[in-house]
Amino acid sequence: MKIAILSRNPRLYSTRRLVEAATQRGHEARVIDVLRCYMNIASHRPSIHYKGAELGPQDAVIPRIGASVTFYGTAVLRQFEMMNTYTLNESVAITRARDKLRSLQLLARKGIGLPLTGFAHAPDDVQDVIKMLGGAPLVIKLLEGTQGIGVVLTETDKAAESVIEAFMGLKANILAQEYIHEAGGADIRCFVIGDKVVAAMKRQAKPGEFRSNLHRGGTASLVRITPEERSTAVRAAGILGLNVAGVDILRSNHGPVVMEVNSSPGLEGIERATGKDIAGLMIQFIERNAGARSSRTRGQG
Ligand code: ADP
Ligand code: MG
Repeated sequence: MKIAILSRNPRLYSTRRLVEAATQRGHEARVIDVLRCYMNIASHRPSIHYKGAELGPQDAVIPRIGASVTFYGTAVLRQFEMMNTYTLNESVAITRARDKLRSLQLLARKGIGLPLTGFAHAPDDVQDVIKMLGGAPLVIKLLEGTQGIGVVLTETDKAAESVIEAFMGLKANILAQEYIHEAGGADIRCFVIGDKVVAAMKRQAKPGEFRSNLHRGGTASLVRITPEERSTAVRAAGILGLNVAGVDILRSNHGPVVMEVNSSPGLEGIERATGKDIAGLMIQFIERNAGARSSRTRGQG
């Protein structure tokens, strides 16, 4: 098959591994920088041009679209979908996952366990939102943040109020969330492919830090997940319509709660922690599913 990997940087671990796994399995893999794709969307015969030439038909695309290029990246992906190219994750599903509020609302609707979460627009409503969530400690998050940047732990109501007001003053969209203290600075990353958790790791924040992101100095280790965590992760990915997802779960006193669902989960941490060939499993999933060549977004909204 001809497989296009939409990634801005061919040197990234995840990109390299996907190229390697595709090539090993006898496919032709090409890394495409989405920001260099351009197209005529009104054409009767939709096509994509890349660096001066038409990009020929592809059998499948693997979107690895960074958070900062979501808007243009998903537009390019939609063009592939118009051309009936199989995409490992569809544009609509990626757009849902990128907006933390939207994805939490979709998950809540289907009864997935979540940390108590609130949001408001007007500074006048901030105090009431804090009260509604049971008061500090609270975690305040930028809706479109990644890698732990824009996630703040506030230990008093006053601090929560100041941080929320400061973000509002910058016109940033945020949410406030109950702090799951009992998780002890750890979360569980479940790597979902199709209807299976193919690998899971526990990420532990470094001492003095509550954010377990590997980019923030967290460390990864192997973990055995419970059947409830397994089914929560698979359901969460399915609700957003993602075939491949990194579902992040906190172990709370009231069972597993989903913190976020990543549509381009990194491969380096999970492959190193588990020793599994995750890139190979992603390619195998494409081999099994690309045949239909039609857009079949799961989930709603
Ligand atoms: P990002 O998209 O930037 O990774 P997250 O929502 O995943 O943002 O938050 C980053 C980290 O902060 C998480 O991995 C987790 O360790 C910690 N964290 C986030 N929300 C909570 C919460 N409600 N309770 C406890 N820890 C949290
Ligand atoms: Mg995260």
